[in-house]
Amino acid sequence: MIVERDHCLITHKRTARRRRVCDSCGDYRETIKPGDVYLEHTAFPGHDSGMAGYRHGGGRPVRAAECSDCATRYGRAALLTATEPLPA
Ligand SMILES: [Zn+2]
Repeated sequence: MIVERDHCLITHKRTARRRRVCDSCGDYRETIKPGDVYLEHTAFPGHDSGMAGYRHGGGRPVRAAECSDCATRYGRAALLTATEPLPA
């Protein structure tokens, strides 16, 4: 479900089906567990956040997963509890 959209960044709220590494935790810990709600950010070429790995994406979109702790720390807690997708 898309919960935030910028011209070069889309954020989905997802429920994990398997363990995942959180790209925001920074040390490749699998802090996202099955059943957890997490955010998936997709950055498109032109996005200037310096999102990890973007420069090596070869001009393709780059995805990053973010656990609920990191999303809360960075002020995105409201996206984790969103119940309605953004209008198209
Ligand atoms: Zn994290």
